Amino acid sequence: MKRFFCLFVLVCALLCGCSGETAPVQQTIFCMDTVMDLQVWGKDAEEGIAQIGAALKDLERTWSAVSEDSLLCRLNRGDPVSLSEEESALLQRIEGLSEQTGGAFNPKLRALSECWGFYNENHRVPSPSEITAALLESQWDLGGALKGYAGQECAVLLSQLDVDRAMLVLGGNVQTYGEKPDGAPWQIGIQNPDGSGNLGILSVSGTMSIVTSGDYQRYFEVDGVKYHHILDPENGYPADSGLCSVTIICRDGLTADCLSTALFVMGLEKATEFWRSSDDFEAVFVTTGGAIYATEGASLSGCQYEVISR
Ligand code: AMP
Ligand code: MG
Repeated sequence: MKRFFCLFVLVCALLCGCSGETAPVQQTIFCMDTVMDLQVWGKDAEEGIAQIGAALKDLERTWSAVSEDSLLCRLNRGDPVSLSEEESALLQRIEGLSEQTGGAFNPKLRALSECWGFYNENHRVPSPSEITAALLESQWDLGGALKGYAGQECAVLLSQLDVDRAMLVLGGNVQTYGEKPDGAPWQIGIQNPDGSGNLGILSVSGTMSIVTSGDYQRYFEVDGVKYHHILDPENGYPADSGLCSVTIICRDGLTADCLSTALFVMGLEKATEFWRSSDDFEAVFVTTGGAIYATEGASLSGCQYEVISR
């Protein structure tokens, strides 16, 4: 299911995102448990792709929640580890975003995700006592934050090279870099949560992160009940907030990724309040009933939606 989703986003981005006159250097890789499609335009495009590919693999090696020798797993085991300045800064920023969202984004739910079987695809509904026990554990899982951070890091790498522009599709995350030659905005398709194609098209300018969290991206069903991977830290169950998809558009990739997950957990009303008290992102919400809402700065077309104003 997840792979299908990733390929879908990829196709949308391919169709919508690259009408420049020169062909990009392109590479598809599998990293962070997802298909990633990298397209880079400009003189140093080959070098850019090589550096991005290496950086993504490096981040995966460091922050994997499953690979036993990753820094993250060693931290979770309580092994003595020394973190670089950059690594500590990342964890501190994530903790800050967790606090800012009132804990709706909780980067320490590894045990909880594991007991729902989301790590090894061994899906099952845990008992209430297992959920309570898992909520008491405090082990890192950057699954809701890392791809956004990775996209942003890739954009930084590209800014140090002679690269004109880039479109990086990292699973459900899209990172744009630079401007198209005709000055036209990038066009990013948002998937319809029901799987029926595009819900709408977002226009964004320049370097931007566009991150979607959706209940259709990773889930399983038992007795006709759907259990998805975005968990409510308050009760340990898949968030039942009335939303099925949240897209965040933000210059900062880490913020975009943490907020897509957090605002999904909050639900429309709290998420709207959160947006009104911030000034650094825009959002598109889809409710489980199929209604679409977009904050006033989001440039969404191709669908009927209600605008959320300040
Ligand atoms: P995303 O697709 O960005 O919303 O991230 C979902 C992933 O983040 C899940 O697969 C888990 O690894 C992790 N996760 C689940 N629930 C939460 C939560 N409430 N806060 C932070 N991370 C979460
Ligand atoms: Mg996220």
